[in-house]
Amino acid sequence: MSEKFDVVFIGAGPGGYVGAIRAAQLGLKVACIENMKGKDGKSTLGGTCLNIGCIPSKALLDSSYKYHETQASLAVHGISVKDVGIDVPAMIRRKDDIVKQLTGGIAQLFKANGVAHIKGTGKLLANKTVSVLDEAGEQTLYQADHIVLATGSSPVEIPVAKVDGEFIVDSTGALEFSAVPERLGIIGAGVIGLELGSVWKRLGSEVVLLEAMDTFLASMDQFIAKETKKTLGRQGLDIRLACRVLGAEVKNQQVHVSYSDKDGNQQSDVFDRLIVCVGRRPNTDGLLAADSGVETDERGRIVVNDFCATSTEGIWAIGDLVRGPMLAHKASEEGVMVAERIAGQKAQLNYALVPGVIYTHPEVASVGQTEEQVKATGNDYKVGMFPFAASGRALAANDTTGLVKIIADAVTDRILGCHIVGASAADLVQQVAIAMEFGATAEDIGTMVFAHPALSEAVHEAALAANGHAIHIANKKKR
Ligand code: FAD
Ligand code: NAD
Repeated sequence: MSEKFDVVFIGAGPGGYVGAIRAAQLGLKVACIENMKGKDGKSTLGGTCLNIGCIPSKALLDSSYKYHETQASLAVHGISVKDVGIDVPAMIRRKDDIVKQLTGGIAQLFKANGVAHIKGTGKLLANKTVSVLDEAGEQTLYQADHIVLATGSSPVEIPVAKVDGEFIVDSTGALEFSAVPERLGIIGAGVIGLELGSVWKRLGSEVVLLEAMDTFLASMDQFIAKETKKTLGRQGLDIRLACRVLGAEVKNQQVHVSYSDKDGNQQSDVFDRLIVCVGRRPNTDGLLAADSGVETDERGRIVVNDFCATSTEGIWAIGDLVRGPMLAHKASEEGVMVAERIAGQKAQLNYALVPGVIYTHPEVASVGQTEEQVKATGNDYKVGMFPFAASGRALAANDTTGLVKIIADAVTDRILGCHIVGASAADLVQQVAIAMEFGATAEDIGTMVFAHPALSEAVHEAALAANGHAIHIANKKKR
């Protein structure tokens, strides 16, 4: 048996690394076990989010948006640009540099906070023991008073389109194309499909998304989902709903995909590359010894209570490994909550107010309940909307697509949800999330002073509109 710790985290993604740092801040002796290797073959920290998820995808989204904007959106400002070029390997190198900088930063934060970084693959054994298998094949046992499972998730694979890493790729491969594919197929029109589809569409690919469901972004507010589909369609993303992929075969360096369409007719299409992004599954393979005492549910997630405690005392699980949305900020706040509870604090997390964002342009962001969810409660509600087309700041920026939608309780006026499609929607929705955390009503936001001119005035006006008091659009009902 090797060293004993107060807390051992297995996994150094946003759940594990943030939790480990917080636990160390609280005076606990902490280790974090991680087995991921970066592109350079060296051990890396930060998990999916920093290495192959949130950050690299946003780096490519930002680069590709600048290219697209330079090509398509500057003339209206009176700016002419000649010979706009694109160097995909340079774009990918910039993305890799950002990843390196951020993951290196975590290593420094571990050092600064005294978190021990253990390189290898962790497995939970009985009696609060973890075994770690390192690269050399050596096994070491560690004991801890508390063990936090934070091993994240991996892409779901489908037998009809097996990932080969070259022509048929998952989200990780789609961050590494060395050239712009002429035709790009994507299976799954979810968050990853829309974000990575946007990247390559902006750079010149013809993009076709084959989605199994007959409803686009089914878990989102459907008014906002419909606006989003129209907008992305205008940008050239060819989103085909209710499609069942039957097979994908690589022939002569191209992927031949057969599928049945929404009418049940068999179709085929040919792509230079195919991305499979049909969801993610929790990483539990080989994680739990048979006698570890930890339960999993029907979807392979570790069963936890509201505070991320498993049914075994001292064993916790967080992030993509457990129920709830697979989001980095949800994982990291769970890491903090668990660290604080281990240290004896009464931390908790408001799961009702975890914002979600799709980083297309315009962005799509939401917090709280959708109109469909509110309707299902049977309670009366009111809706206020404000289009960016009526925002002076959006006009000045020539970025007027979309709207803010605020849903409030008809009786108490309390805000129940906010859904935005528009520029900077991620930052705008957070303003409403903060207000909701403090129990704000639509009138509360309506009576606040917003800086002018700013996109956030659309939030102000949508809140006013919920009570029929919007100034810069005609109100549906005067009160
Ligand atoms: P992970 O980040 O997956 O980290 C788990 C770590 O544990 C990994 O490094 C893994 O290698 C390691 N591990 C696994 N098993 C073991 C073991 N047995 N021993 C040791 N180590 C192990 N979310 C957002 O909120 N915003 C976004 O913009 C966003 N963009 C995304 C884009 C893409 C392309 C993808 C794929 C995901 C994106 N996500 C985004 C989701 C986000 O990345 C995840 O929700 C988040 O990383 C989950 O954090 P985690 O700590 O639970 O797990
Ligand atoms: P997703 O659940 O968002 O979308 C997957 C889509 O694939 C769904 O629309 C689903 O109906 C469809 N699908 C499933 N099986 C299919 C099949 N056989 N054929 C065709 N379509 C099929 O999952 P994702 O896009 O893979 O992303 C995985 C996770 O990563 C998500 O939970 C998401 O929260 C997270 N993520 C978040 C962000 C962000 O916050 N901006 C970005 C990327 C990923």
